[in-house]
Amino acid sequence: MSEPEPLLPVDPWCLREPDLDLERLGQMESLFALSNGHIGMRGNLDEGEPHETQGTYLGGFFEHHPLPYPEGGFGYPESGQSLVNVTNGKIIRLMIDDELFDVRYGRVVSHERELEFRSGILRRKVHWISPSGRSVRIKSTRMVSFAHRAIAAIAYTVEVDQPSRIILQSELVANEAPPEIVSDDPRVAEALEDPLVALDRDIEQRGAVLVHRTRRSGLTLAAGMDHDVDCPSQFEIENEAREDWARTTVVTALQPGQKLRVVKYLGYGWSSTRSVPALRDQVAAALTSARYAGWNTLRHAQREYLDEFWDAADVEVDGDPAIQQAVRFALFHVLQAGARAEGRAIGAKGLTGTGYNGHTFWDIEGFVLPVLTLTAPKAAADALRWRGSTLDRARVRAQTLGLEGATFPWRTIDGEETSAYWPAGTAAFHINADIARAFHEYRLATGDEDVDRECGLAVLVETARLWRSLGHFDRHGRWHIDGVTGPDEYSAVVDDNVFTNLLASRNLTAAADACVRNVQLSKDLDVSTEEMAAWRTAADAVYIPYDEELGVHSQSENYTRYGEWDFEASRGKYPLLLNYPYFQLYRKQVVKQADLVMAMHWVPGAFTAEQKARNLDYYERRTVRDSSLSACTQAVICAEVGHLRLAHDYVHEAALVDLRDLHHNTKHGVHIASLAGTWIALVEGFGGLRRDGQDGEELGVDPALPDGISRLSFRVRWHGHRLHVEVAEGEVRCRLLDEDPDARLSLLLCGDVVEVGSAEPVSRPLRSREPLLPEPPQPPGREPARHSVVV
Ligand code: BGC
Repeated sequence: MSEPEPLLPVDPWCLREPDLDLERLGQMESLFALSNGHIGMRGNLDEGEPHETQGTYLGGFFEHHPLPYPEGGFGYPESGQSLVNVTNGKIIRLMIDDELFDVRYGRVVSHERELEFRSGILRRKVHWISPSGRSVRIKSTRMVSFAHRAIAAIAYTVEVDQPSRIILQSELVANEAPPEIVSDDPRVAEALEDPLVALDRDIEQRGAVLVHRTRRSGLTLAAGMDHDVDCPSQFEIENEAREDWARTTVVTALQPGQKLRVVKYLGYGWSSTRSVPALRDQVAAALTSARYAGWNTLRHAQREYLDEFWDAADVEVDGDPAIQQAVRFALFHVLQAGARAEGRAIGAKGLTGTGYNGHTFWDIEGFVLPVLTLTAPKAAADALRWRGSTLDRARVRAQTLGLEGATFPWRTIDGEETSAYWPAGTAAFHINADIARAFHEYRLATGDEDVDRECGLAVLVETARLWRSLGHFDRHGRWHIDGVTGPDEYSAVVDDNVFTNLLASRNLTAAADACVRNVQLSKDLDVSTEEMAAWRTAADAVYIPYDEELGVHSQSENYTRYGEWDFEASRGKYPLLLNYPYFQLYRKQVVKQADLVMAMHWVPGAFTAEQKARNLDYYERRTVRDSSLSACTQAVICAEVGHLRLAHDYVHEAALVDLRDLHHNTKHGVHIASLAGTWIALVEGFGGLRRDGQDGEELGVDPALPDGISRLSFRVRWHGHRLHVEVAEGEVRCRLLDEDPDARLSLLLCGDVVEVGSAEPVSRPLRSREPLLPEPPQPPGREPARHSVVV
């Protein structure tokens, strides 16, 4: 199978759409979405129509809806949550004399959009001839500010080729008609239709503020707009506001060559506690400050923010231009998802669409935070703090389930469990260890103890308590965790899932170690020496199923004894979950997404090199990758065991998931975890970056490049240093980018302990990666696409 062709030109620093393709509007709305983690705007056309899905979102702003249970059960979550499409401030409609600009009518001479990863700006350039032959050129430039969390802005310029009267209507619209299918459940669709109740509106001199509240979740939202108008001729400006919309109209007459330029500033805020006047004034103040700063200042601040990010995050891939573009696109979206989320959950689609109802999953702690921790640690810390802020809910949930400590939700927006399917929701307890790992790794990578003191220690302690109450010792003293679901959701409610057991064991040890570092705080959490000792005993006695006869780890107890899946019969029927009952999937050896292979990535020290090679060989043949969260992990382990070509194919799959719409659902939002996985696959796979040493306190680098990538360079932040790693011509060179000439960092470079400074790079020849076993096959029809390498 060969890879789908690029839909958009391949360019190292931007995503450019040379022509408008109405068939792909939905996908482009997601790809061109702008966000800072607080405000998210889909890449909708300025004039609002046509669209696939209008979308403006605020991190954490959701509505409740009933959960569908044909048959209920004790402890089932009572209410669902969905991200709300909030007041749309993107709309700028344009009338040229008596004709409305609409790309579906007249003639689009040219239409180009470009998202520039360095400036963080979306540009659109249109030349349109109206049905009656008027020629108009429009330029719009949109940004969601990284520097000013509550602010977005659009600079809109119109130029005509004949004298024309121009009417520009800039709007705020609440309760836009929802997309045709919000949900298969009519009750969910109903809750999301007209979700906002109007509370207040305020007309300002050049704009307006609208305040609304959700009907059930009781969250209040204020959205405002303000404008700067720049026009060579006389113009008039008018403002109106109704319950669900506000409009600023600018009217003028333009001569050929003259330009009308309007800068629209947008401000957003929401709160569950603040009063209507407080919120309204907060947004008005944010708008005043944005207008005072002006467009150019906002644009410079955006650039500065991104310069600082790229300076310590950029990845360069020579020889594979598609991946070069994709990894920067991926990093840009990962940053957008988390940069200013500050105290709110990051959704699996960021704020680019309402796929998965805007919920956060283990995707974030498992895939996104490892990347942010090493590239934008403040954003990672904020995301961890959000998790920490939901600890009380997780405690209550554990109590409901009859467990100790805390159990975090499988999917949520505000911290409450909302997964209606318990075998792959409630039972997927590994999310607790994934969260604990994210806290642990953040501390190891940054040296920052504050997050642990604020909330990380409590999370580690309560998740350790959870594991202790979930697990049990058998009569031989081995510690088991029964009846849980691991990452592979084509198995459920299994005993001793290796991934879960290993991560739980690490969680227990990390909690005990954290208590030793924070004696007083651990006392405040009532942790006794006995309790810590019990955690360590369980961790050390953890049972890891291994099939002696096959010489491989069994994904869970007895897994390797299950019947084989008939892959020939299921050709063309993917994803399997849409074509087979779970009952059939659960009893066979068919793996939805890396599980045991992920255990080898996340807990590398628990497996020998030979075990890694044999396990990979076994599970590759059974893994169908029906989740986008799989390819990146497979890439890392394939690279580690020496299947570099296969790893390269998986890098392509992870990286191009949205750019080439591999799962045919990018229109619902981009796959943030898979995008983060692009970085993971390149940096941890080919770059061989690992947390090494006994406790992962040391950084290790051991790269290997596939044919087709001639040079890989990446940067990471580690304990306040910026480390640059460059792999080319058979060697790896490491150097600090710190200004301090005395800065030093100790590294394990290709197996040698070295000291890296900022003067001369330290280099080592690459070690050979001879695979122990031949490249394994995948289930028939599920081979990753073979990408074409331009050498
Ligand atoms: C995957 C989960 C993931 C979820 C959200 C599912 O298809 O199996 O692991 O958390 O999607 O991305």
